[in-house]
Amino acid sequence: MAIQFIDLKRQQEQLSEDIYNNIRKVLDHGQYIMGPEIKELEQKLGSYVGVKHAVACSSGTDALLMALMAYGVGQGDAIFTSPFTFISTAEVISLLGATPVFVDIDPDTFNIDPSMLHKAIQALECKSREYYPLPDGYEGLRPRGIIAVDLFGQPADYDSIVKSVETKDLFVIEDAAQSFGAEYKGRKTCSLADISATSFFPAKPLGCYGDAGMVFTDNKVLYDRLASIRVHGKGTYKYDNIRIGINGRCDTLQAAILLAKFKIFQEEIQEKQTIAQRYSLALKATPSLKTPHIQDGCLSAWAQYSIVSNRKDEIMISLKDAGIPTAVYYPKPLHLQDAFSYLGYNPGNFPVSEEIAGRIFSIPIHPYLTEEEQKYITDSILSAVQ
Ligand SMILES: *Cc1c(COP(=O)(O)O)cnc(C)c1O
Repeated sequence: MAIQFIDLKRQQEQLSEDIYNNIRKVLDHGQYIMGPEIKELEQKLGSYVGVKHAVACSSGTDALLMALMAYGVGQGDAIFTSPFTFISTAEVISLLGATPVFVDIDPDTFNIDPSMLHKAIQALECKSREYYPLPDGYEGLRPRGIIAVDLFGQPADYDSIVKSVETKDLFVIEDAAQSFGAEYKGRKTCSLADISATSFFPAKPLGCYGDAGMVFTDNKVLYDRLASIRVHGKGTYKYDNIRIGINGRCDTLQAAILLAKFKIFQEEIQEKQTIAQRYSLALKATPSLKTPHIQDGCLSAWAQYSIVSNRKDEIMISLKDAGIPTAVYYPKPLHLQDAFSYLGYNPGNFPVSEEIAGRIFSIPIHPYLTEEEQKYITDSILSAVQ
């Protein structure tokens, strides 16, 4: 049994005709940059998530960067975010000269803990380090906003996040790189914050065949800024530059591929619900395994199915021997990464993230796993912990 962590080949076999047709159309019209497929994709995905404006861009990282740039984030600004995420989430904050202020996660959802967020904002406002681990140089920082991450496909708790900032002038950005297609209390992700950013990296829930991303907002002023930032801060035309921007465009070819893949996307999300339910049913009664906890009213996009266990290492070795790939997201929280050592954080600052990082692993979940493969995976895990 050749089990892939994410099986893009099986997906491509199913879709090949649509994909080839869409690619051929682009080769025929020749508008490789900002061709008609870009607008079509923006309209389709914008209406799917229920947001007025969508801006296709070069990657999920650039989507986050553009969101912060649209708010004019820079030196002296504090942005609150999770230390238990992919580097991009905090990297873009530092790139702009602003300062990431980390906030520990909820041990059940792995998303930012709203009560900790409240504490972090208060600590920064009262400038009191005693009660909260703040970065070096925090005295001069101005709280500006929050980047909440929908880790592994499950939305963060936006109602609580919004509550903790409602009397303050702070923006909320949704890092939905892993959660496109997920739901929170009847609303789709990418619609849950002032600006949302997603990624179409091949392994994400909706992936293309290269790098691409998208930014979503209901706010027309922010949309105009995002569209300008995407093309070198353009004004009325390309050679009129009214702000500092980036080359943040999405290739027309990637949009064409995404249009083909989007046709079956909802079925894929549905299929992953079934697989996740089967996994949890088979594994949840085993005390040494903690299966994913999805909050009431939430639907995960199942970017990952992650299990927490004290026996992680031995399970991963057994699965490897059985031909089942696994991965660890994320072995090292961001506050302990060398890249962020200048922030002055220490081990012990964010105990939940640190503890989970040592015990978590992810197993294959993608819509093309056969039922037989799913059973083989859960049987192999169970026999590893027997
Ligand atoms: C993948 C990912 C990103 C970055 O997306 P790219 O398209 O790879 O730049 C950002 N945040 C999170 C949480 C991610 O998983």
